[in-house]
Amino acid sequence: MIPLSLDNLYPLVFQNAVVAIAVTDSEGKFINVNPAWCEYMGYSAEEALTLKVKDVTPEEDQDTSSKSFVYLTEERGRSIRKQRRYQRKDGSVFLSDLHVAGLFDDNGEVIGLIAVFVNIDKQIQAEQIQAQLLNNMELINQELSEANKELEKLARHDTLTGLYNRRVLDDILHREGLRSQRTKRGFGIAIADIDNFKHINDTYGHDCGDTVLKELSHIFLNGIRTTDTTGRWGGEEFLFIFPETSCQGALIVIERIRSTIEALTLNCGEKEIKITCTIGLSYHHGDIETKNMIEEADKALYEGKRSGKNKVVCYQDICSLEE
Ligand code: GH3
Ligand code: MG
Ligand code: MG
Repeated sequence: MIPLSLDNLYPLVFQNAVVAIAVTDSEGKFINVNPAWCEYMGYSAEEALTLKVKDVTPEEDQDTSSKSFVYLTEERGRSIRKQRRYQRKDGSVFLSDLHVAGLFDDNGEVIGLIAVFVNIDKQIQAEQIQAQLLNNMELINQELSEANKELEKLARHDTLTGLYNRRVLDDILHREGLRSQRTKRGFGIAIADIDNFKHINDTYGHDCGDTVLKELSHIFLNGIRTTDTTGRWGGEEFLFIFPETSCQGALIVIERIRSTIEALTLNCGEKEIKITCTIGLSYHHGDIETKNMIEEADKALYEGKRSGKNKVVCYQDICSLEE
């Protein structure tokens, strides 16, 4: 066995390097290539010596490759590193991570170039797959958060009218009830019930009944102030919550809603439908529980129905629009 020494070191390094190494003259003609280069390129070492750099450069990269060559030879740039495509003997192309440096003589003249590269096709592919996966994950996350928003909306809103459902109304009632008990500020709760709604369903059909509920929901929602709440309490009953308000303030809102509905003519297919509703109001200053206020609003509503419908009744005698 011949021991490793400076005499045999360089040929051994050249032959056994796992990176491709090629040496060209200052015209770009290959002078020597190592086995790793041959393996990457598909040429034998003998064949390589008949080639110039442009012979292993894909057509579309000829320009940039000559510029780099000129930079290193004529402009005496010391070295470059870049991603560069090589064309194999069979015509296929791969991407490499390339380092090229000038070989200088004693006068500082460039007499050749040494190029060292590795094939980074797999790395690029992996990066592309990773980017694609990340992109897909982002899309999935977006879809998931939209689905979650939709779910949350479904859980909080009545599917027919889009108004808050009873569960949300119960939460708001609880919160506002506690607040009014603490602040002793005026607090109103009203229940609206469509008059003769069974008759509407029976005469015009259930689908028309649904249309009426949806149309009235818009009026309810548009009729309240931003601090107020409305929602579907059940069937054809709707709840209104008026925190921090005067009794008269709440009355004005529900009376305006009632009269808007009375003035309305709804079209359902060919048919024109007139609707009215009755609304019961309970008004306190944090002195009773909200469930008792609901009972009072219900009693006022019942009184409105009993005394002719299409009206607003306040359970508390003290409260009137003429105040
Ligand atoms: P009143 O003037 O006393 O309130 O009479 P009403 O006919 O409105 O009251 P009733 O309680 O007898 O009838 C309520 C009707 O509301 C019965 C029910 O079928 C109908 N209803 C409840 N929910 C819906 C719904 O989502 N869509 C439709 N189309 N009808 C509904
Ligand atoms: Mg009812
Ligand atoms: Mg009714």
